[in-house]
Amino acid sequence: MTRRNDPSKDAGQDSNPATGKKPLTVPCPQCQKPITWTTENLYRPFCSKRCKLIDLGAWADGSHRIAGEPDMDETDLDELIDRLERGQD
Ligand SMILES: [Zn+2]
Repeated sequence: MTRRNDPSKDAGQDSNPATGKKPLTVPCPQCQKPITWTTENLYRPFCSKRCKLIDLGAWADGSHRIAGEPDMDETDLDELIDRLERGQD
């Protein structure tokens, strides 16, 4: 007499036992790969850390400069902050 009654085998397949709903699937904004929208997916709505970084931070590390924007170094920034703090326009 063999019964297959192991709840751990069913959990988290393609339905959520708690709600009975299927998880939402959305395309990754970067590469369009479908991803499952779950709390376990740390990088949602992206498929991976890589896609998230590409979208959120790649420009900040200098790999994606905005064309026509002059580089602003820290000296310029200090000067700008200084001017703002003194209330000059
Ligand atoms: Zn992706």
